[in-house]
Amino acid sequence: MNDMPEILLLSCYELGHQPVSLGWPLAALAQAGLAASAVDLSVDDFPAEAVRSARLIAIAAPMHTALRLGVDAACRARALNPTAHITFYGLYAWLNGDYLLHANGEAAVADSVIAGEYEGPLIALARALDEGRSAAEVAGVSIPGRSAQPNLARLSFPVPQRASLPSLDKYARYIADDESHLAGYVEASRGCLHTCRHCPVVPVYNGRFFIVPAETVLADIRQQVAAGARHITFGDPDFLNGPGHALKIAQALHAEFPRLTFDFTTKVEHILEHRELMGQLGEAGATFVVSAFESTSAQVLARLHKGHSVDQMEEALAVLAEVGMAVQPTWVPFTPWTTLDDYLGMLAWIRSHGLIPATPGVQMSIRLLVPPSSALLDHPDVESWRGELDAANFTWRWDHPDPRMDDLARQVSRIAEDAEEDADPWDVFAAVEGAAYAVAGRTPPVHPRPTFLPPSPPRLTENWFC
Ligand code: SF4
Repeated sequence: MNDMPEILLLSCYELGHQPVSLGWPLAALAQAGLAASAVDLSVDDFPAEAVRSARLIAIAAPMHTALRLGVDAACRARALNPTAHITFYGLYAWLNGDYLLHANGEAAVADSVIAGEYEGPLIALARALDEGRSAAEVAGVSIPGRSAQPNLARLSFPVPQRASLPSLDKYARYIADDESHLAGYVEASRGCLHTCRHCPVVPVYNGRFFIVPAETVLADIRQQVAAGARHITFGDPDFLNGPGHALKIAQALHAEFPRLTFDFTTKVEHILEHRELMGQLGEAGATFVVSAFESTSAQVLARLHKGHSVDQMEEALAVLAEVGMAVQPTWVPFTPWTTLDDYLGMLAWIRSHGLIPATPGVQMSIRLLVPPSSALLDHPDVESWRGELDAANFTWRWDHPDPRMDDLARQVSRIAEDAEEDADPWDVFAAVEGAAYAVAGRTPPVHPRPTFLPPSPPRLTENWFC
């Protein structure tokens, strides 16, 4: 293996989890006989020595924040090692390929970009570079002047290689009943069957998803339990795209580790469609569900093509309450179509449904991102709300037709940023509510703080979902 290229994988941010975006390509490269090392910059220092000797530097960009940090890392790497080939892989890499590959008089941020099921093209790229061939010869790899479609060929999923990754105590923990535990992270599928218009999965997977074999998922869980995990997050875009697959894994997990708990992400539609499954998943150890509620405005839900109504959100809450499973709704409170009344309505809805403890400040501050290739851009009225492309920030700009909403977005963002990690959610919510009513020129309704507060719902210590 000595004559193989020196491959360095970098991850910058993966929602506070030990990055599977390093573990999976490490395993796939090893299976192909290619030596690689990996560094997670969210917990480790920039590996200057490894960068200097690398011939291929591959940077994971599964989300917006990761890409922003990844571009900084790429620029640093380029300065230290101008001859290394720098590639980006993951959802946001492909969405922003034009920016990453555009030279603009200087060296481009990246030499290539890979998307979709990225392991195959990454292996092919490493081999091509090792053999002195150009990246232009590699299928599934975008290079300056040639954009390749995302690779959607099915991968024979290896078990992610985690032995060389930072230990689980460096990452977000699971908190339940005031106790904190190490948490692991797995994916039982990739891509998504659905086509919500604002979702970055859609332009890449376009309604397709891939099942990871149950044995592979269970082996990944096993190695993280051996490393101390007491809770597992299923980070699939939607765990219930394959409901039978999800239940099979959950029941096998429970049979092997009866005290292990888990959480998963699924849409409102699936909670209702598979309501009988919720009880079974709860019995197998599921303690909470992350669900993209997004808005309490019917108009905004329709624009995002969410496939659910506010009534169905209420029904989903009832289904979950019946089986004793907590919910962490996620929101997109600032869009060009969300009015100030809508925002106040969302706050009132959160309060009246007892969701304040499940709503961190950041969730009330999120402003819609419209990345290049977003399906939102296909709407016939796009010219009426879309501004300039801010390529360096990976989004189309938009201003709200009501300037009070942009002002409120800035205020809520500051409140969320200033809130301490252990801030009382009731205080943060009250501050957001105060700001929103002040912007509307209205007096906030008086809500005495309840004297008896129910126990905080189970959660992870990382609140950011973008
Ligand atoms: S269900 Fe979730 S992951 Fe799937 S397209 Fe909609 S927002 Fe994206």
